[in-house]
Amino acid sequence: MAQKSNFEEIFSFLNDKFSNETEYLQAVHEVLEDVVPIYNANEDYKTFDIVRRICMPERIIYFTVSWMNSEGDIEVNQGWRVQHNSAMGPYKGGLRFHPTVNLSVLKFLAFEQCFKNALTGLPMGGGKGGSDFNPKGRTDRDIMLFCQAFMRELQRHIGANTDVPAGDINVGAREIGYLYGEYRRLNNKFEGVLTGKGLEFGGSYVRTEATGFGLIYFLEAVCRHRDSEIEGQTIAVSGAGNVALHGALKAVEKGGKVISLSNSRGLLHNEDGLTDIALKWAIDNHATRNNILADMAEQNMGKWVLDKKPWHLKCDIALPCATQNELLEEDAKALLDNGCQMVLEGANMPCTNEAQALFLNAKIVYVPGKASNAGGVALSGLEMGQNAMFNQRNASALDEQLYSIMESVHQRCVEEGQNNGDGSSYIDYMKGANIAAFRRLADAMLAQGV
Ligand code: NDP
Repeated sequence: MAQKSNFEEIFSFLNDKFSNETEYLQAVHEVLEDVVPIYNANEDYKTFDIVRRICMPERIIYFTVSWMNSEGDIEVNQGWRVQHNSAMGPYKGGLRFHPTVNLSVLKFLAFEQCFKNALTGLPMGGGKGGSDFNPKGRTDRDIMLFCQAFMRELQRHIGANTDVPAGDINVGAREIGYLYGEYRRLNNKFEGVLTGKGLEFGGSYVRTEATGFGLIYFLEAVCRHRDSEIEGQTIAVSGAGNVALHGALKAVEKGGKVISLSNSRGLLHNEDGLTDIALKWAIDNHATRNNILADMAEQNMGKWVLDKKPWHLKCDIALPCATQNELLEEDAKALLDNGCQMVLEGANMPCTNEAQALFLNAKIVYVPGKASNAGGVALSGLEMGQNAMFNQRNASALDEQLYSIMESVHQRCVEEGQNNGDGSSYIDYMKGANIAAFRRLADAMLAQGV
């Protein structure tokens, strides 16, 4: 068989086919740089064309969501489910409802998800889905009607052992409840087909908190590896959703000083540090408020600054927890100029390629989301296990298991991310995460033939 392989050949193949899918190509490029040398060193991987196969989704489902809103008007949205790779288990990954959702964004997220899931060590494949529906400003009834219409289409493609979606941006406990109810009614089955469910109907303790808490457990592991600790460090957080708020709360509980939150409209700044009381209030209220940060400012929990991001603030640690490509080259420069020592991604791919390159060149700690935000999907994996056993484990046992999973994700990254050929002790977490995940996924595919 002809020898396939090397970075340029595979990337240009994908580039020719999907030239308008910029986010997808960005995510693939980021991974290929690290894994192609591993691929080239393994004859079996090459013979079975593993890298090209890992980059291509196994299946993409597209559907139109036509629905009648509570005013009696017809609305038409687009829906997708990208079933990227099932070699390690059922497709697993969230649903996103946001006007910026398109195929390129979902393909990048599904691709990343496979690597993230591999790092957890749990039996989960990778997928992602969503819609261009914008739930902002809609009534609760409209959200329910949309979720039901979306599930009427999606339900024929998912199942507890086939594909198990979860939440993502704008898909929280309320939306998962509506989606699950519709699935159950249509299929007459009470099964673990979604994760992030309410505790009363098969949900798991700690799932809501898991991504943000897991991010801070990973940060703790990084600090321990460097003989330092979170206590006393100044931390800038972006985002004001599920990941940002739980990450900020756990960081404060560990003694960190969290000086910011943000959203698509601006920044909440508190140079003395947000309190756990303020963050708990935000956690309880963010889903029902239009702008939780402006509301916090009104209660003197910080200063609201319109149209600003947190990256110009002086901090030791930056945690981007909002969305993809939110931290640009100029933001990375500002962070470095102000002495930032660590960047751990809570969101998926929040740092642009240019920003990542600056962090890696400066040899500060830079951890990609596929490692540092893996806590959410890890807990989803534990929710699937509980559903399969028809049981519900207690919160402290699950929190302990989350902690130990994040420690082992950290350890996997360290093992593959050290020895950079320059004799330094610098850990390249990006390379470590990519290679550790690739080996597991590639070996699973190899063992199962074509
Ligand atoms: P939420 O919907 O709960 O919150 C998203 C937050 O990001 C909101 O505060 C939103 O502000 C803000 N935001 C959105 N777009 C922008 C933007 N362009 N600039 C600044 N802020 C913006 O989502 P999650 O917290 O669940 O998810 C956040 C990130 O974490 C995503 O990348 C997601 O894929 C990732 N992630 C989430 C997991 C989870 O378990 N939830 C698991 C792993 C990763 P506004 O209200 O103004 O739109």
